[in-house]
Amino acid sequence: MIKPRHLEKIYYPTDDEGIEGEIVCECGGRAFKIRCFGEFYDKNKMAINEYENKYGQAVRAVCANCGTNYLLYDFALHGYNGLICEEGIAVSDEVLEGFITETDNLFEIKIFLEYDDEDQFLEEVVNDEYLQKDFNFTMADRASIWSWIVIELKGMQSGIVYKDFVNQELA
Ligand SMILES: [Zn+2]
Repeated sequence: MIKPRHLEKIYYPTDDEGIEGEIVCECGGRAFKIRCFGEFYDKNKMAINEYENKYGQAVRAVCANCGTNYLLYDFALHGYNGLICEEGIAVSDEVLEGFITETDNLFEIKIFLEYDDEDQFLEEVVNDEYLQKDFNFTMADRASIWSWIVIELKGMQSGIVYKDFVNQELA
């Protein structure tokens, strides 16, 4: 099963392959405040935005129970095009804004991830000499470099499911 390294302790897969998972804080909390950066093309849907002459999109989750602050996703760190093709700039904390809706400010979080398959990642990334001049990618990095991400939120107060809060092709 594949599991993103930076989410090792908080990503609980809900399928056999690890493509879908729920975020649970190390304290056991499932309610999070959301801090994010992106372009809201709909009230509750956020795409990649222009950022410092490149592109940025990021989502952090702050546990409502213990306050631990987790970076779930940053286009420049976890997106295939953002990282490998260097289209992204990592978003700084100062530009993140809290996400709230008319009814909710705390959310449960589900994530769906799509990865390169192993052969493709080996060929396009690990065995690419040009890329490896700048990076030292190994097969272990495949777990943290995604070709698609979907983040779905569920409001703790209202029970409303915010589908496709993020639904972003990354490769
Ligand atoms: Zn917590």
